Amino acid sequence: MNWLRNFMFGRNGVDHLSIAAVLLGLLISIITSFIGIPYLRLLPLIPYGYGFFRVLSRNVYKRQAENRKFLSFWLTVKSRFNNWNTRRLDKAHKYFTCPSCKASLRVPRGKGKVIITCPRCRHEITGKT
Ligand SMILES: [Zn+2]
Repeated sequence: MNWLRNFMFGRNGVDHLSIAAVLLGLLISIITSFIGIPYLRLLPLIPYGYGFFRVLSRNVYKRQAENRKFLSFWLTVKSRFNNWNTRRLDKAHKYFTCPSCKASLRVPRGKGKVIITCPRCRHEITGKT
């Protein structure tokens, strides 16, 4: 295992973006296995190749910067999904989005027609709960 340690010295190694690239390749290979076009099966080699390129890259600072960008993008996607899922599962409240400042406003359901004042920008919206 010493040769591997020596080989990987000064290289980027496995990070979140390289794992994501390999997982994307795996997903594409599963999808393309159901589609009968023969050359389409070579498509996952692109994300696989990118993942391995990242692991073996010696330009560690650039790879780390790319990984940080990817993580910030991924956390945004994840938090949007969590917000959507919270809204979906919460049957006791109705959610409105302020048209002026895009704030998320939560009001209890079953109160009829209500006027909601945004706590952030004082914009008033009328909604049916
Ligand atoms: Zn607002």
